[in-house]
Amino acid sequence: MSLMESYVSHFRPDIDRISGYVPGEQPKENGIIKLNTNESPYPPAPGVEKILREFDSAKLRLYPDPVSQDLRAEISANCGVSIENVIAGNGSDDILTIITRCFADATRPIACFHPSYSLYPTLAELQGAPCVKINLTENFDIPDDVLKQAAGANIFMIARPNAPTGNLFAMEKMEKICAEFNGIVLIDEAYADFSKDNCIGFVKRFPNVIICRTFSKSRSLAGLRFGYAIAHEKVIEGMMKMKDSYNVSMLTQKLALASLWDKRYFEDAVVKIKASREALMLGLTEQKFSVVPSETNFVFAAPPDRNGKRYFLELKRHNILVRYFPDCRTCEYVRITIGLPGDMAGLLSITKGIYGS
Ligand SMILES: *Cc1c(COP(=O)(O)O)cnc(C)c1O
Repeated sequence: MSLMESYVSHFRPDIDRISGYVPGEQPKENGIIKLNTNESPYPPAPGVEKILREFDSAKLRLYPDPVSQDLRAEISANCGVSIENVIAGNGSDDILTIITRCFADATRPIACFHPSYSLYPTLAELQGAPCVKINLTENFDIPDDVLKQAAGANIFMIARPNAPTGNLFAMEKMEKICAEFNGIVLIDEAYADFSKDNCIGFVKRFPNVIICRTFSKSRSLAGLRFGYAIAHEKVIEGMMKMKDSYNVSMLTQKLALASLWDKRYFEDAVVKIKASREALMLGLTEQKFSVVPSETNFVFAAPPDRNGKRYFLELKRHNILVRYFPDCRTCEYVRITIGLPGDMAGLLSITKGIYGS
């Protein structure tokens, strides 16, 4: 009997049963315009490059600061909270994993919207926790009976702005959920830097709210892996017990801090991306696309024939990679990351060729 044939799974059945999260493609070929994973088209702040160049590699012999003190101090000052309200993570996916392990199990379900970030149901599956999926309305808005549907869950994971749809749920609806849901409300603000408002103020009003943010999108640091969460000090204290001891590398702590120091560069990049977003939304609307109003660095849009897959494949043929979600709620659409202005113009002109308008 070969070693393969003699294999017996000792995994928890939960793990054997699921397929796991599928991240967007990172193509190896050159010459592809990559608009599929919401990375920034601009380089990180110049200060990041400087720190990296001057970094003394001999320091890597030592463990990093386990609690990312300097970085959390800077974040807390920027967010108007104290350092006890901040936890640092290896990307916000690490924060989401910590939260899942803290608040979900077989008797403590996770609630989330559909369509939304598909990692939430995957985290529930990995944890052996039931997942309560709440369908968004026709316009991808929160349904009126949301609290009734979410009742019984211990944690409600909400991306605001939502992904992959890009729209921003009304502040009043978020407030009502935070005030009335009997459990933790995780507000995933991965795209909040591109939106007109955010929920950070909720942390001072609701002890059950966690806000999480990432440096992967607006700060051009997806490859570095840094994210953080803001919440009541008791919530952060519990999460600190759960995290890996050294979950944020020494280089990550230094480079993320350098990114925060360069405020002007960051703000300019966000302004440029928002301008390109408005131009893309207008250009697609003019070509009879149905475009979801975006408050993010991507646009979720359905072509005139409402065949998302065909548009995805046509763009791919022209070396433009966008994201297509085959699920029946999203299959009429594609999600297009905002790239450089020239890439957006190229996409619009190729689109004209495809639909002959
Ligand atoms: C990109 C994204 C994340 C993950 O961010 P990382 O910090 O790169 O792990 C989390 N939530 C949403 C909604 C995202 O789109």
